[in-house]
Amino acid sequence: MNNFSYTKAHDLPEAIRLGAKNDTQFVAGGTNLIDLMKYNVERASALIDINHLPDQQDIREQEDGGLRLGASVTNAATAYYPLVEERYPLLSRAILAGASGQIRNMATNGGNLLQRTRCYYFYDVNTPCNKRQPGSGCSALGGYNRIMAILGASEACIAVFPSDMCVALAALEATVNITGPNGERTLAFADFHRLPGNTPELDNNLQKGEVITSIDLPPKGFASHYSYLKLRDRNSYAFALVSVATGLELEGNTIKDARIALGGVAHKPWRVKESETFLIGKETTPENFAAAADIILQGAKGYEFNSFKIDLAKKAIVRNGMMALNPSETQLPGAVPN
Ligand SMILES: Cc1cc2nc3c(=O)[nH]c(=O)nc-3n(C[C@H](O)[C@H](O)[C@H](O)COP(=O)(O)OP(=O)(O)OC[C@H]3O[C@@H](n4cnc5c(N)ncnc54)[C@H](O)[C@@H]3O)c2cc1C
Ligand code: SF4
Repeated sequence: MNNFSYTKAHDLPEAIRLGAKNDTQFVAGGTNLIDLMKYNVERASALIDINHLPDQQDIREQEDGGLRLGASVTNAATAYYPLVEERYPLLSRAILAGASGQIRNMATNGGNLLQRTRCYYFYDVNTPCNKRQPGSGCSALGGYNRIMAILGASEACIAVFPSDMCVALAALEATVNITGPNGERTLAFADFHRLPGNTPELDNNLQKGEVITSIDLPPKGFASHYSYLKLRDRNSYAFALVSVATGLELEGNTIKDARIALGGVAHKPWRVKESETFLIGKETTPENFAAAADIILQGAKGYEFNSFKIDLAKKAIVRNGMMALNPSETQLPGAVPN
């Protein structure tokens, strides 16, 4: 680990001023950044601690009926916040499917959006990796690519974005509030993360010095019919091979509105609105969810070791659609996916 300086920012203007300098990095819970510094993947010479910034420490109800999640609130506090559990149980379940209790107690909402890929080669500084060192090549393309992307990848990078929380935020159509050297702005969740293209070193559309201040959840929370299904190698403490967040609004057995987002399959949470439009007016049958899955997975492409993910994702979408019908049975802690 290299030497670095540490400064605690007391307010947002101070954080932005310090964070705009080259070689600085914001640190929140540190659960990802400090690991990357230990592996020599990140080499910040100055850390700006943004954990104590005012106005980012709580969860507040909005006038439109939505909720504002402060960026410094921990993942654990968010998942167990009564209004989140009551109105956005999909988000609560997705957060609790991630990491471990200890990590969720440290990890913040802002940091969760900015965690970096878990591609093994990205972490191994002795291998070429375009995301870590642009132009050096991609070791995963011809290497062991079992956990990599099946959608939206490029010849420069086939990594996936590993967050669980963000899959639910994509399905819920959250928005991200940002303040930086050029003032405040808001990004729709769909526009926050990027596909790799020729610039895989850029994971998202945040500019240097910009701070995520909060995340807004719209009033519609799909609290009656929802499910988060995470398929992984171990049943705890592992990242998703494929995950699915589904929210449904039903009238009897007929779908009035649907949201489906996938995790573990692309460089960002993957959502295809055409699949949701297809489901509107349809019955809640496995066949209809399978047809929606075919729309979502159009253009999916596997590499040597991860082609199994295409079929896995299709089955997960269908299973999760059916699980969403009765969340009181399927979303209990420890419930086995049916
Ligand atoms: C062993 C292990 C297992 C894990 N398993 C899972 C899992 O299964 N699912 C899952 O989703 N996650 C998992 N995680 C990842 C974990 O959720 C993230 O590490 C965590 O959410 C990052 O939050 P943080 O506050 O610690 O961020 P930090 O590590 O402090 O920061 C991460 C990045 O975000 C930037 N940053 C942080 N906050 C802000 C802000 N407000 N504005 C601008 N920039 C900011 C930092 O500069 C840094 O670049 C796991 C982590 C570990 C270590
Ligand atoms: S997939 Fe992306 S992160 Fe992994 S080695 Fe290739 S360029 Fe690096």
